[in-house]
Amino acid sequence: MTANLLDFDLEGLAALCESLGEKRFRATQLFRWIHQRGASDFEQMSDLAKSLRGKLQGAARIEGLPVITQHESADGTIKWLFDVGAGNAVETVFIPEDDRGTLCISSQAGCAVGCRFCSTGHQGFARNLTTGEIIAQLWFAEHFLRKHLGTAERVISNVVMMGMGEPLQNYSALVPALRTMLDDHGYGLSRRRVTVSTSGVVPMMDRLAQECPVALAVSLHAPSDPLREHLVPLNRKYPLAELMQACTRYLAYAPRDFITFEYCMLDGVNDQPEHARALIALVREQGVSCKLNLIPFNPFPASGLTRSPQKQVQAFARLLNEAGIVTTIRKTRGDDIDAACGQLAGDVQDRTRVGDRIAQQRTVMLTPVSGNATAPEGRP
Ligand code: SF4
Repeated sequence: MTANLLDFDLEGLAALCESLGEKRFRATQLFRWIHQRGASDFEQMSDLAKSLRGKLQGAARIEGLPVITQHESADGTIKWLFDVGAGNAVETVFIPEDDRGTLCISSQAGCAVGCRFCSTGHQGFARNLTTGEIIAQLWFAEHFLRKHLGTAERVISNVVMMGMGEPLQNYSALVPALRTMLDDHGYGLSRRRVTVSTSGVVPMMDRLAQECPVALAVSLHAPSDPLREHLVPLNRKYPLAELMQACTRYLAYAPRDFITFEYCMLDGVNDQPEHARALIALVREQGVSCKLNLIPFNPFPASGLTRSPQKQVQAFARLLNEAGIVTTIRKTRGDDIDAACGQLAGDVQDRTRVGDRIAQQRTVMLTPVSGNATAPEGRP
C-alpha cells in the first residue's frame, strides 16, 4: 500500500522525501501543491523534477474521502457525509458568516464518551480517524468551496474540531492534522482560529497546551459533578474541579486569554436559575477566564430530552452576563439539513444504520467536484 500524503504534516513529509533520497525542501513544494492548490495528481506538480514525480507515483498517493452526500441549506450551510469504510461515515459542516467561513470537522467515527444530549454519542464508537481522514475534510471542503464560489481566495478561515468524536481521545492523529492547518505552507490558519473542543480529557489538554496550543472549547453542560456525570459520563474520570484546574493551566499557553465553555440548554435539566447561579459560583471559585456559549439542543428521539424554551435561555444568559461572564446564545444553522451541533449523526441511531445508508446512497452518490468525488482537482 502506498503512503497517503494527506497523513503527513510538513515534518513528516520532509522525512518521507529524505527516505526517497530527496532534499527536505522538496517537501515544502509538495505540501503547497497538496494543501494550497488542492492537487491530487503528481503530474500536475510542474515545478517538481520529473524523477521525483516518478518516485512519488510509485511510493505515494493523495487520496481524499469519498463523498456520500452533500446538502446545502437555505442559509448557505453545507453538510457533507464522507465514507470512511466498513459501513462508517463522518460528517463535516461548512458554516458561512459575513466575516468568516467556519468548517466543523470530525475526529472519530462515532464517539465513546456517550454524552446524553448528543446523537453521535448514542451511536457508540467505531474507530479513530487517521490524520489523513481528518485533514481530508478540510482539503476537500476548501478546494470544493473555491470552485463552488468561483474564487481563488481562501474560503475557510476558521476550523472547529466539534464534529463527530472526542478529538483528544484521538490525540496522535489530531496533532499532525492541526499542524497542517496552522502551517504557512498548508492552510496558514492562526492558532486563534483553530479550536479543539473537548468534553474534558484532562491529561490530553495538558499535552495539547505543550505541543500544539490552539483555542480550546470545553463542553461543560452542567455546574455540578452529579449533573455533569449524568450528562457527560467522562466527568466520573475527570471531575469539575480537575477540569477547571486543567483549563487554568491551559490558559498559560492558549492563543486566546479565555476558554470557551459550551453549554447545551436542556429543558428542566440544566437551564434553571439555580444552575446559572451554581455556574457563576463555579467559575468564580476556580477563577477561570472564560466565555460561555449557550447552545440550543437539537432533539433526537432516543435522548428523551427537549430544547429549553427561548425565554428560559435568555433568562439564563442574563444572569450570567450580569455576573460578568460574557455569554452568547448560539444561533442554530442549517436546521433544514440537520447540520446543527449535536445533529452530526443526523437521524442515525446506530452504526449499522449508517452502513445501510451508505449502501443505499452509493447508487445516488453526489459528485460535487467535477468528475471526482474523492479529491479536489489541482489548480496549477
Ligand atoms: S458531545 Fe462530543 S464528546 Fe460527547 S458524545 Fe458527542 S461527540 Fe462525543
